[in-house]
Amino acid sequence: MPLERDASRKGEVIPTKIDIDTSKVRTKVLETVKEEAVGIKLEDAPVIVSGGRGMGGPQPFQTVLKELADLLHGAVGASRPPADNGWVPEHLHIGLTGKIVAPDVYIAVAISGASQHTAGCSGSKHIIAINKDPEANIFREAEFGVVGKYEEVLPAFTNKLKELLAG
Ligand SMILES: Cc1cc2nc3c(=O)[nH]c(=O)nc-3n(C[C@H](O)[C@H](O)[C@H](O)COP(=O)(O)OP(=O)(O)OC[C@H]3O[C@@H](n4cnc5c(N)ncnc54)[C@H](O)[C@@H]3O)c2cc1C
Repeated sequence: MPLERDASRKGEVIPTKIDIDTSKVRTKVLETVKEEAVGIKLEDAPVIVSGGRGMGGPQPFQTVLKELADLLHGAVGASRPPADNGWVPEHLHIGLTGKIVAPDVYIAVAISGASQHTAGCSGSKHIIAINKDPEANIFREAEFGVVGKYEEVLPAFTNKLKELLAG
């Protein structure tokens, strides 16, 4: 049980001089990078459309993935390889060493579903996977899955969604 608050108690700040031998400090701040938030932040997005190494390069992140994310008022994310390869900014990578997210819907496109990745997205309410490999681990995590090349599945998915949204 926490103690009752006692407002009569006071603390005393005692300035202490500390001598640090900087040659012994093994961690150094080399650079401070300000994260630029463009659109919805990953942590706040109700829908995340995430791409993996299987996207093949930076372009699909700016075109097919972004188009779907925009349509769903969501954000684009990634597994670690696209960030490591410089296809997307580092702050978009999801997983053990990246962001932990828990959107309503997480769409994993061309992501194999390594445990280090799913550690960052398994809290999502619904996971949808699109992958050309029916054995991909991501299908074990996903509630819905489509086996196929994203180049074919994504445009069909996006077009159908546009139709539905148009009423
Ligand atoms: C200490 C440590 C920490 C890590 N932290 C993270 C982390 O935080 N986040 C993270 O993501 N990873 C992390 N990793 C890396 C992780 O182990 C995996 O290597 C990584 O998640 C794989 O990314 P991927 O699924 O995009 O790529 P891959 O495993 O290469 O999978 C690519 C997938 O794309 C599919 N594909 C290919 N072409 C197409 C196509 N045209 N259409 C549809 N599907 C296609 C393939 O079938 C495949 O399943 C970490 C690793 C280590 C060792």
